[in-house]
Amino acid sequence: MFKKKKITLEYTIEKCSKCGTEVKRKYSDGDVLFSRCSKCTSCDGMMMIEKIFGETLEQ
Ligand SMILES: [Zn+2]
Repeated sequence: MFKKKKITLEYTIEKCSKCGTEVKRKYSDGDVLFSRCSKCTSCDGMMMIEKIFGETLEQ
């Protein structure tokens, strides 16, 4: 029997509140929606977690 494997990948979208730069990265433990996480790379603003979502892939 052939079995299909499903994996869910979780992503986090960080957005700079100052210039609007968006960064998509892999979700890591401890990510909380709307929490501050890092400094923006293109300005000196703060990046906030705007969205956490999962994508399901079939293998
Ligand atoms: Zn910025």
